[in-house]
Amino acid sequence: MIKYKLICKDCNIKFDSWFASSNEYEKLKKRKFLNCHSCNSLKVEKTLMAPKLINSKTKYETKFNTVKYQKIKKTIKNYQKFIKNNFKYVGDNFAYEARSIHYNNKKKSKGIYGSASTQDLKELKDEGIEAQIFPWVEDKEN
Ligand SMILES: [Zn+2]
Repeated sequence: MIKYKLICKDCNIKFDSWFASSNEYEKLKKRKFLNCHSCNSLKVEKTLMAPKLINSKTKYETKFNTVKYQKIKKTIKNYQKFIKNNFKYVGDNFAYEARSIHYNNKKKSKGIYGSASTQDLKELKDEGIEAQIFPWVEDKEN
């Protein structure tokens, strides 16, 4: 069971109503079975949850996201380490270097990494050169 505070848009009265689920609320509303206890108007809406409830939820999610972000950051850093050890850094020349590998058929050349604009990536893709986009965390410790 779920309790909603409903508000009537016509007479502005607020009242609590119980539903089996949030789906049931939507279903009853669609079938026009929801009406105001005071004036019978069908313009009945759910009110927002109490602000206190929203605040505590937001706080919880922020904390959760920070933990999640730290984990992702660690994964990214591990990848970065791998890339740094196995690929050649070409900086902003990525598009140029990628083309040179592609057109000169340098199959034995080391993989490269660097930065490219979205326009560069689009053009490379049009030319049949695949590039992986990877999130990069700037590491101030190094
Ligand atoms: Zn009403």
